Amino acid sequence: MTHAQNRERLGDMDASEFRVAAHRVADLVADYLEELERHPVRPSLRPGAVRAALPETAPAAPESLDEILRDYASLIEPNITHWQHPGFLAYFSSVASGPGILGEWLAAGLNANVMFWQNAPAPTELEERVVGWLRDLVGLPEVFDGMFTDTASVSTLTALVAARQALPGLDARRRGLAGRPEVGALRLYCSEEAHSSVEKAAIVVGIGRDGVSKIGVDTEFRMRPELLEAAIERDRRDGALPCAVVATLGTTSSTSVDPVDAVADCCERHGLWLHVDAAYAGTAAISPRFREPLRGWERADSLVINPHKWLFTPLDASLLLFRQPEIFREAFSLVADYMRTPETPEVHNFNEYGIQLGRRFRALKVWMILRYFGGAGIGRRVEQHCDWAREWADWVDAHDAWERLAPVPFATLCFRYAPPTLRARGDAVVDRVNQAILDAVNDTGEVYLSGTRLAGRFALRVSIGNPRTEWRHLERCFELLEEAAARAETG
Ligand SMILES: *Cc1c(COP(=O)(O)O)cnc(C)c1O
Repeated sequence: MTHAQNRERLGDMDASEFRVAAHRVADLVADYLEELERHPVRPSLRPGAVRAALPETAPAAPESLDEILRDYASLIEPNITHWQHPGFLAYFSSVASGPGILGEWLAAGLNANVMFWQNAPAPTELEERVVGWLRDLVGLPEVFDGMFTDTASVSTLTALVAARQALPGLDARRRGLAGRPEVGALRLYCSEEAHSSVEKAAIVVGIGRDGVSKIGVDTEFRMRPELLEAAIERDRRDGALPCAVVATLGTTSSTSVDPVDAVADCCERHGLWLHVDAAYAGTAAISPRFREPLRGWERADSLVINPHKWLFTPLDASLLLFRQPEIFREAFSLVADYMRTPETPEVHNFNEYGIQLGRRFRALKVWMILRYFGGAGIGRRVEQHCDWAREWADWVDAHDAWERLAPVPFATLCFRYAPPTLRARGDAVVDRVNQAILDAVNDTGEVYLSGTRLAGRFALRVSIGNPRTEWRHLERCFELLEEAAARAETG
C-alpha cells in the first residue's frame, strides 16, 4: 500500500510498509553505530535550538515516513550527546550493545505488559530466570529473589519502602506518617558520598532530607562504621526511629567501597535494614577478581545493580534483589477487582512487589546480552576496562604534573593537573585550571569527560565501560589532556 492510499484508511501502518520501514530503521541504526566517531561526543548547541527547529503544533494530517526519517537524521541524531561513542568517558558509561538493542526491538514488537503472570507468562518467567542468572553471575546466594525496575533511583526507593514496612508497629502503609505524634522522626543513614537518589528516596518515603544522616568518610571516601554506630546510638537516645542504612559499593564520584561487612554488623546489632547500592560496581563481580572488595554485600536485605550501566544494556534496566519478597509484597500489593486473576503461587505477579503496575519487558534484552557475550565474556570486558584504568592510574602516578585524587578499585579514575608550581598558588587556582582543562578537552568533541569534587578539590573524572572503547581512544585522551594542560597553565 502506498502512503497516499494509507491516508484514506484507518488502522495501523500496513504490514508490508512496516517491513520495509523496519529494514530502513535497522540500516539507520547500524550506520549510526558504524559512524559514531564522525560525531563530536557532545554537540555544540544553544539551549532551545532544537525546539526552535520543530513545528510548534502537532501535524493534523499524516506525513510520510520519508519526511519523518529525514528529520530524524538531520535534527535528532546529530544533536544528542553520544553515550554510545567510544570517546564518551563521562559519568558512568551506559551503553546499548548490539544484542541489547535487538532485544529492545523485539520487546517493542511484543509490547508485553509484565504486570502479572497471566498477562505475560513467558516474560514473567524469563524475568525470574534472568534475575536468578544475574544473581548467580555476581556470586550472590540463592536466598535473593528480585525483579527489574527502571532505574537505581526506583530500586532504592522501592527497597526503602520495604524497609519502612519492616519497622515493627509503624504500619505506614495503612496509617501514613502525618498526624502521628507518637512516631519518632524516621532516620536513614548513608555516607557523605552516597548518590542523590538515596536522599530523593527519603523525600518520597516520608523520612525527609532532615532525616538523612550523612556519615563521614575516611581519606579514601569510605563510610566510617564507628561514626555510623555513634549516629544510630545518638538518634535512639533522642527518640528518633532509625529505619535503614544504605552502603554504597562503588560511589558515584570516586567509586569508593563502603566497608559493607562492618556496616552489616552495625545493622545487625541495631536490627536495621541494610540496602546496598552497587548500581555501578555490582557488575564487576561477574569477574571473580572483583568479588573480594564487595565481600559482605551478601548480608544485605536489599541490593541494586544497574545492567544499564556496565552491563551494556540499553536504558532502562535496574536489578533490585531482596531477601524477603514477602515484605515487598506486604508493602505494595494492591489487587483491584478489575485485575484479579486466579492464584498462581508458583510464579511472581511482579506488580505486587513494587510501585509500577504496567511494566516493560526488560528481561528480554538482558537475556540476549547474557547469552550473546556469555558470563565469561562480560567478565573479561570488565577486567579489560579495569586494567586500562589501572594503566591510566600508573601514568598519572608516574607524572609529577598530574595527581591522582582517589584509589581506583574499578574502571573510574579521579585526578587533576597539579604541578608543584601550580599547587603553590593554592587549591582555588588549581581548581580553575582543571575546569579549563575539562572544558577544552570536551570542546574538541573527540572525547567527553566529567568532573567532580573530592575532599573539596575539583577532580577530572574518567570512567571506562564502553565495549566500543579501545586503548587508542584513551591514548588520544591523554594527549588532549596534556595539550589542554599546557595551554591552561600558560593562558
Ligand atoms: C548511577 C547511580 C545511581 C542512579 O542510577 P539511575 O539508574 O540513574 O537511577 C545510584 N547509585 C549509584 C551509586 C550510581 O552510580
